Amino acid sequence: MGIDVHVLGTASARPTNRRDVSGSAVKCPEGIAVIDCGEGFQNRFSHQRKMLKQHEKGTTLKPGNVDVLLFTHGHLDHTWGALPWMQTMSLDHRDTPLLILGPSTGAVLDALLSGSELPKDTHPSELARQWRSWHSLGANDSGLSFPTRWVLGDINKNRWVELNAQTGKAVALDSMPQPIGWSSCKIEALQTRHSVPSCAWAIKQVGKRGKFDRLRAAELRLTEEQRMSLARGDDVTLENGDLLDADSFRGKSGSGLSVILSGDTAEGAPGLLSTATPTLLVHEATFLEAQSDKAVEHLHSTVAGAVRTAQQMKVSHLALTHYSSRIKDLETVSNEVDVGDVHLDVVCLNDGDRLRVGEDGSVSHLVFSQEGWSKRNMSPNR
Ligand SMILES: [Zn+2]
Ligand SMILES: [Zn+2]
Repeated sequence: MGIDVHVLGTASARPTNRRDVSGSAVKCPEGIAVIDCGEGFQNRFSHQRKMLKQHEKGTTLKPGNVDVLLFTHGHLDHTWGALPWMQTMSLDHRDTPLLILGPSTGAVLDALLSGSELPKDTHPSELARQWRSWHSLGANDSGLSFPTRWVLGDINKNRWVELNAQTGKAVALDSMPQPIGWSSCKIEALQTRHSVPSCAWAIKQVGKRGKFDRLRAAELRLTEEQRMSLARGDDVTLENGDLLDADSFRGKSGSGLSVILSGDTAEGAPGLLSTATPTLLVHEATFLEAQSDKAVEHLHSTVAGAVRTAQQMKVSHLALTHYSSRIKDLETVSNEVDVGDVHLDVVCLNDGDRLRVGEDGSVSHLVFSQEGWSKRNMSPNR
């Protein structure tokens, strides 16, 4: 079924007449990941759901299917809608667990683990601070109808700590937890560069297992039992002592689809440049070229900077979002998109738009209007 990204807010710092603050819902085969959750997110989510019901029969977006809430950073335009939305889901008797993940610093994680005060220089927007206050406002097992897990990570070190919403105690985890029941998609945090701890989120479809090499099994005259072991992934030792490596009996697995949402970041984020090329990159483009000094100062990207990052990542499909309120129409944004002779398709997003990544690796931009969505194929060869 591929991956369907619903873009529910394309404004930066504050909402405008036509744009709301950040928040996206990424629909995967086994559930939904929400990435950022700015003020009023629940209204936009339910409006999108209503529009789908009206215009796209058979496509749903149920809050109960949201298994994980991923924060790119703690700035309030990315977080302020989460607690009220959780309270609404509780009023609706949600009972499925919700995993909440976000970036922090090593010093904050140390303080949480030792039960001491947060370091003096901790940023006001630190997620640990916000989450603790939400816990005290009822985002815990006794206040909500559904179980929650709150996990903060030092992205650079890949170190993860879980905060207990009830007791306030913190425990170190071996690895970043994945949403319950997800087997075909995996979530990954990638280091970005912003004025507070930040990360991008990658959602990767796990490569399908390659075909079992029946021919080789026949040539080796393997018994049915030996074949079954190898097919399961267990190595087999032959009577002559030779070891057959199960992995060598599976062809190369197909590389899965992947989508990355950058969150707020300066161009050339280290985690983006060092990861495998995704099928689709959704990247912030807060400023136009005329404000490039502001982009440098506040660790945001310009349109050209987002394009440069995509080109360094060798991406074929780039979608731009998170526009400063100075940007009145998207023409000014697309005018600054210059890909040279590189194969790169770039679209400028509006609230309500969708990006559909098909099983075959194709990407469509579904443009929202009051009549529903109209499809525009993104072709990297345009
Ligand atoms: Zn922002
Ligand atoms: Zn920010």
